[in-house]
Amino acid sequence: MGEPELRQTDRVTRRDPNDAWVECTCGSRHWGLGGAAGLALVDRATGTVALQLRSAASHQGGSWALPGGAIGTGESPLAGALREAQEEAAIASDAVRPRFARVLDHEVWRYTTVVADVVGERPVLLPLDGESADLAWVELDAVDRLPLHPAFAQAWPALRTLATTRAELLVDVANVLGSRPDGWWRDRPGATTHLLATLADAGPLPADWFGLDAGEAWPDVVAVLEGAARAATPPPPPPAPGTLGVSVVPASGSGDDEIVRLAAASPSEALAVATADRELRSRLPERARVVGPETLRRHLDQAPRPRHLPA
Ligand SMILES: [Zn+2]
Repeated sequence: MGEPELRQTDRVTRRDPNDAWVECTCGSRHWGLGGAAGLALVDRATGTVALQLRSAASHQGGSWALPGGAIGTGESPLAGALREAQEEAAIASDAVRPRFARVLDHEVWRYTTVVADVVGERPVLLPLDGESADLAWVELDAVDRLPLHPAFAQAWPALRTLATTRAELLVDVANVLGSRPDGWWRDRPGATTHLLATLADAGPLPADWFGLDAGEAWPDVVAVLEGAARAATPPPPPPAPGTLGVSVVPASGSGDDEIVRLAAASPSEALAVATADRELRSRLPERARVVGPETLRRHLDQAPRPRHLPA
C-alpha cells in the first residue's frame, strides 16, 4: 500500500510496522519508516512511462506521480517498488527489467526511484487499490505538462534522462580473470564459468562507473571470451529478478579486437569496459569509460546478492 490520507486522526491499518509517517529533518513528513520506493516503468517502444493520478483522499491527491509507497520490513527498495507497482497498478514484476536506481536522501528518510524497462508488451495498468484515481502511459515529453506531485516534478528531469539511457558493460574476461593469481590457469574454462556465474548473479553496479546521475545501474553485461575460455558454460538467460544477467560473446580471434568492434557498434548511451589492458584502452572510442578489473572484482566480492525479491 502507498500513503494514507494525511490526518492525525486516521486509524491506519498497519500491515507492516514501516507503514507510518516520518518527521523529517527537511521539515516535511514522509511515508515509510524504512523509506519508500517507486517505479518509473518505461516502454521504450512507445516512449511512454506509467504514471499514477493520486486519489483525492491521498497526500497530494489529484497530482500525478509514480506508483510507489513504503518499503516493507526486510524488503529491498527494488522489491518494495515492484510490490507497490503490483498492488497499485497491476504491474507484474516479470514485466519489469530494472535499469537504474536513484535515491533521494534526506538522511532520516530515503526515497528510491527504480527506473525500469518493460519486458515484452507494455502491461495494461489497473487501479487495484484505492490509491489511484487513474493510471496512464504518458509520453515522456508530455509528463511535465501534467500537474505533478512536487517531489516527482523535481526528480523528473534526471529520471527523464535515465528513461532514455541504456548502460552497457563490456567485460574483457581474460584480463579480469588474469587480475588475480588464484590458480585460474589450471582450469581456464572452469574459472571462466565461475566468473560468468558470479557476474550474472550480481545485483546492480555503481552508476558512476557509467558516468550517470543515479545510485545504481543494471547494465547490459557482455562478456567477451577468447581462446580456451570459450569452452566455458554461459549462465542461462534471462536473468533472475534484480540480477544482472550476462550475454557471452566468444571471439573468433583476438578478444581485444572483438571488444573494440563491440564498443564501436554499441548503441548504449553509457558504455563502460572492464579491463586493465592499456593497449585495448587506447583503441576504445573516447566515450567509453574504463573500470579496473580489481574494482569490478571487489564489487562482486562485497555486493550483497539480490534477495527478498518476488520469485
Ligand atoms: Zn525530508
